[in-house]
Amino acid sequence: MLKQVAEGVLVHESDFIRSNSVVVQGPAGVLLIDPGITSDEMAALANDLRELDQPVLAGFSTHSHWDHVLWHANFGDAPRYGTARCAASIRDLLSHADWKDRIAGGLPPEFADDIPMDLLGLITGLPAGAAQIPWDGPKVRIIEHQAHAPGHAALLIEERGVLVAGDMLSDILMPFLDLEAANPLEDYLAALLLFENVAGDVVAVIPGHGSAGGAEQLRARITQDRAYVQALRDGAVPDDPRVGPSAPLDWLPDVHRWQLQRLAQRKQNETPE
Ligand SMILES: [Zn+2]
Repeated sequence: MLKQVAEGVLVHESDFIRSNSVVVQGPAGVLLIDPGITSDEMAALANDLRELDQPVLAGFSTHSHWDHVLWHANFGDAPRYGTARCAASIRDLLSHADWKDRIAGGLPPEFADDIPMDLLGLITGLPAGAAQIPWDGPKVRIIEHQAHAPGHAALLIEERGVLVAGDMLSDILMPFLDLEAANPLEDYLAALLLFENVAGDVVAVIPGHGSAGGAEQLRARITQDRAYVQALRDGAVPDDPRVGPSAPLDWLPDVHRWQLQRLAQRKQNETPE
């Protein structure tokens, strides 16, 4: 079930919103990014890795949302990392006695029983501003930004030219803003600029959900996501197939309307009486 995107970079796609788990091969084992969704999927992935004789040496979560901080016992007990902000965010959630209920409320009902909570979010924060993931394998540069979630990280596997984008740059999801942040629109545009700055070094982009794409796709997605965010900022109607009548997922137009509503409320609260 593992598909190769570039030499030494493999992807496993989940049935849940086409979530991508990314495997980066090193000389003695792999780095596992956003490990997966259902118990069965992760067990199958662990099995595939065992057959390839590739132990999991390290894990990394691009951000603290539940679908990116899961784990399965069969991956072993390798260190699991995230940015300092990501780790703080999940630590805050886990500090509430009812954290499982809080997450369960947001789970897709058709998958809820298959999503293992036991090892969710057990992440070590890297030092603030850490430039790369500490592991014995190809250098993985951390491109941290404030968009989608606190301490969200994209990863650039430099020698393979692969950008692992987390929940950014998806072909099936329009930008989901971090509406708790002080400047969600500006943050998002700044993050897209960071991606644009490394685009010349990228031959493949892997989003957290959806299809991997090549260098042209990367630029097209940056342009498309920027147009969406700018439309939200300027009060225009985005010309974006992901939220139109033929949206790839039928609930996306609702999320789009919700984002519009929240932004409008925020603006109102900012306006002095
Ligand atoms: Zn996600």
